[in-house]
Amino acid sequence: MKKRIFKYYFILIFLVLLLSMFFTSMIAQKYYKAEVENKLKSIAFSLEYLLQETPTDTSLDYENLARDYVKRHNANSEPSGEKLRITFIDFSGKVLGDSEANFREMENHLDRKEILEAIEGSIGTDIRVSKTVNTDFLYVAFPFRQQQVIIRASVPLIQINKINDMVRFYSLLTFLAALLLTGLISLRITTSITRPLNDLILASKEIANGNYSKKIKVNSADELGQLASYFNEMGSKLDATMTDLHNKKIELESIVDSMTNGLVAVDNDLRMILINPIAYKLFAINEDQEIIGSKITHHIRNNEINKILRETIELNKLLECDVTMGNKILHISTSPIRSMKRSGSNSGGIVFIQDITKVRKLEQLRTEFVSNVTHELKTPITSIRGFIETLKNGAINNEKVANRFLEIIDIEADRLYALIEDILQLSEIESKQKDNDLENLSTSALVDEVFEILQPLADEKEIILQYCAKDELFIKANKNRMKQLFLNLVDNGIKYNKLHGSVNITGIYEKGKIKISVKDTGIGIPAEHLTRIFERFYRVDKGRSRDMGGTGLGISIVKHIVHLYSGNITVNSEVDKGTEFIIELPC
Ligand code: ADP
Repeated sequence: MKKRIFKYYFILIFLVLLLSMFFTSMIAQKYYKAEVENKLKSIAFSLEYLLQETPTDTSLDYENLARDYVKRHNANSEPSGEKLRITFIDFSGKVLGDSEANFREMENHLDRKEILEAIEGSIGTDIRVSKTVNTDFLYVAFPFRQQQVIIRASVPLIQINKINDMVRFYSLLTFLAALLLTGLISLRITTSITRPLNDLILASKEIANGNYSKKIKVNSADELGQLASYFNEMGSKLDATMTDLHNKKIELESIVDSMTNGLVAVDNDLRMILINPIAYKLFAINEDQEIIGSKITHHIRNNEINKILRETIELNKLLECDVTMGNKILHISTSPIRSMKRSGSNSGGIVFIQDITKVRKLEQLRTEFVSNVTHELKTPITSIRGFIETLKNGAINNEKVANRFLEIIDIEADRLYALIEDILQLSEIESKQKDNDLENLSTSALVDEVFEILQPLADEKEIILQYCAKDELFIKANKNRMKQLFLNLVDNGIKYNKLHGSVNITGIYEKGKIKISVKDTGIGIPAEHLTRIFERFYRVDKGRSRDMGGTGLGISIVKHIVHLYSGNITVNSEVDKGTEFIIELPC
């Protein structure tokens, strides 16, 4: 900028100086020539006067006259270098006498411009280069009609070169002075222009780097000052807009990030513009991977999803489908992103992803449960109805048979009752997040109560029931719930035990938890059934369980109670050696 301003100033001043030099030189030359011309004219007049004084009858020696005059003239005037020359020429152009050369050898002068003008009656003038001295000469020719002679006076214009040299010298001086002045002035001007411009550039850079609050000092009210204040105003508006946008972006990000469902947004080319953490997880995309801007098809390799997303954008329609990806069932719904342009076409699409694996599993469990319950209820009811039918058809008349049938009906009714009790209990525990009526229960007291109830059953098989704990253990829980837990486990320990077997309960505090073990010396559970015995209605041996009056819900109820108290249950078992259930509950 500075350089450019300086350059233009320099060119301007150089041109002005060049023109002024040219015109000064022209004017000086013109005045000089006019002065010399006047001088020559007065010389010609004085010579005319001299000729008038000379008698006309005598033949005049023009040569002598010319030389005498020049001699006298030179003697009287200052030595300026302008050597005067006088020539007398007749009207036919013949030279009659000359102060310098031999007039006899001189050629006819009729072709000379000043001579022609003099012949015509005026004072002739001309400037020519003298071939002999290579200098400009000014010629003035004066017609003296009385004697038919032309008086021509001439001098070399040697001062012209001097004038030109002087003009050049002073122009150079002026040029140098102007150059210095130009430098100083342009420096000042450029500084006054470039400083605010530099401030503007710096502020623009800062704004480009994100510092939208950057301001410029407004020092003047001129155009630059106005530019600076408009710039500041623009910066403030930009700052406000950017802050607003930033806040909105954070709001949007936190909304999208806190969504419980997955969300992916793409542009018209199916390039990702937004993805939330849940979507990363559901589609098993590495979160460290930079995927914004890349094609969705590179990351979500599911034809169904990509197809409905494309259709949504093209047809401007909301679409949905369920897809299975790995072990997950996902409900996908796609919607178009409305375009800001007026063209009407969409500017992309959004994919909402809902993990419905649990819902589907629950639905499946419910269906299974309903069919299991129906099946479990149907068996005793069918049996009861069958016996009642037989009794109605005459068996009632046979007292022995009738009693036998009534006993079976009673057993089936008990089983039905136990089944309904277990189902109700299970659904009650399942519907609870937390239990109520919590007490600090002594484990030994609780186990004693359970043993008392089950002792008759144990006696039938001569099974020993034992409880052993180093410390007095206390569990904070609902008494009925805990009693049910021990009842179910000890009951199983007796049911699936051998003659003369035992059921041992031990308890200790371990790692801040209460660890209780219910171990029997029974038939054990084959390894392949171990994980499934916690499922509802799952039995290793259906017939045996039913014969024992089992509902298939006992262990499932135990598991739900343990989970209700944030505990954990595991099972170890060896066929023919026995089974051990280990329960860990927080203190
Ligand atoms: P059930 O009413 O049939 O006993 P449970 O839910 O209590 O139902 O037990 C599920 C199945 O687990 C039983 O049918 C049985 O096959 C097996 N089981 C449970 N406890 C024991 C145990 N202590 N010893 C051997 N098998 C057991």
